[in-house]
Formats: sequence, C-alpha cells, structure tokens
Amino acid sequence: MALLDVHHLSISFTIHDHKLREQVLNVIDDLSLSIESGEIVAVVGASGSGKSLLAHAILGLLPSNAKVNGELLFEGEPLSSERLHELRGTELALIPQSVQYLNPLMRVGKQVEQAVRIGDPKKVRRHIFQRFKLAEETAELYPYQLSGGMARRVLVSIAAGSGAKLLIADEPTPGLDEGVIQQTLHYFQELVEAGSSIMLITHDLAQAAAVADRVAVLLDGKLVEVAPASSFSGEGNLLEHPYARALWQ
Ligand code: ADP
Ligand code: MG
Repeated sequence: MALLDVHHLSISFTIHDHKLREQVLNVIDDLSLSIESGEIVAVVGASGSGKSLLAHAILGLLPSNAKVNGELLFEGEPLSSERLHELRGTELALIPQSVQYLNPLMRVGKQVEQAVRIGDPKKVRRHIFQRFKLAEETAELYPYQLSGGMARRVLVSIAAGSGAKLLIADEPTPGLDEGVIQQTLHYFQELVEAGSSIMLITHDLAQAAAVADRVAVLLDGKLVEVAPASSFSGEGNLLEHPYARALWQ
C-alpha cells in the first residue's frame, strides 16, 4: 500500500474577466501520483504549473473557492477534513513556499518547539538549529527580525521537528547559501532513511535528479511524466527536451 495516493485530482477556479464574464481556470487536470514509504518524489515544473496547489490540495489548505475533484488517500484511507485536521503537522507536514506562514506574533524558537512531537522540545529545537546553522539567540526573535534565508531555515526546522511520515517541501531552498541547501537536502535523505517520505517541489531539475528516487514533471497542471530520477541525470541540452518548458527556467 502506498503512503499517499492522489487519484484523478482536478482543481479549477471560476474567475471573472475584465468584462465580468465567468471563466473556468483548470489549474490541475486529472493528476494521479503515488508516494511509497521511504521514497523521495520530486515534482518539477515551471512557475504557475500547479505545484503549490497540488501541495495545498494534499494538506487540505486550498482556498474555499477552489473546485476539487478526485480522491486523496493516506495509508489507504481517504483524507477527510477530520482526518486532515488530525494529521496536519503530525503525520503530514508542509514546508510552505512563503515565509508568511510563520506566526508573526510568536518567537521563532517557540514555533519550532511547538511542532516537536518526540523528545524534549527545547533539546530537539537546539539540535535542529545547530544543524541548520541558526544561532541559539535566533530562537528569541520574531519573524520580522529574520533575514529571508533565516526565515526559510526556520520553516524547514518546524517541519523537521514534527518528524512527519510525509513531508511536502514546497520549493524549500531558494535564496539559501549553497552550504545550507546541501545541508537541507542531506537532512531530507536522513529523514527518509529514518522512515519518512518526501515530496520535494522544485523547479531545479538538477536538485530533483540529485536527491529524488522519482521525478514527476508538471506542465500546465498536467503530469506529463513520472520517471526514475536516474533517467533525468546527465540530461544534455534541456532546451531540446520534450518537456523543456517545464524543465528549463
Ligand atoms: P506553482 O506553485 O507551480 O508556481 P501554483 O500552484 O501556485 O503554481 O498556481 C498554479 C496556477 O493556478 C497559476 O496559474 C495560478 O495563477 C493559479 N491559481 C493559484 N491560486 C489561485 C486562486 N486562488 N484563484 C485563481 N487562480 C489561482
Ligand atoms: Mg509554488
């Protein structure tokens, strides 16, 4: 049994154009994808291809005007809203794309400690901060006092603290130093060795090919390819690839 099954997921929005005519935007179109336990699946696609919506659909975080069809199963059972409420932040964690998901009114150390489920929250938080090169004093700061890169590392720390079975990382590394990027990707691999699974959303094919087991290519809301990462490594001229628009930024 797969850890996560996405079956025939479609998402659309009804919007009004400048003449107030109704238009239906199909942003995810009949997408099916499974993630097995202990697997890293990368979802790559250009900006606007639907990556964040896919992540938000799995976590039940879509805006209320989104029209959703299809089925989502976690460990074989449907992800009902009650179940999502229980699983979010525990078995299912998101590293959001935007640092605006941090609570502006709470010190960041506390935000990480609150997410910790196993062990002493303070000790676990200290350990995670050391790993991601966040100084101990950072714990006392509020989000507005952080640089962009520090805030991203706090987001990764919150998800790391939860020890979730499935971690969905929505473009977790832009703007980080190369060293911290490698540290983060290495940490993902360790989480997987410890039994977690990861959906790594990125528009960096080289990153996807380096850490993932499989790569799923999203093009304008459609999954056009799911293949072993090895089949993408060493790709020559991506401009000539059939999915160039999705793979080349
Ligand atoms: P990605 O994460 O791949 O950059 P998104 O998943 O954020 O892309 O968005 C996919 C598409 O859905 C984009 O064209 C975006 O404009 C559209 N979209 C996202 N959210 C909404 C919304 N609330 N209403 C209408 N369209 C939306
Ligand atoms: Mg996105």
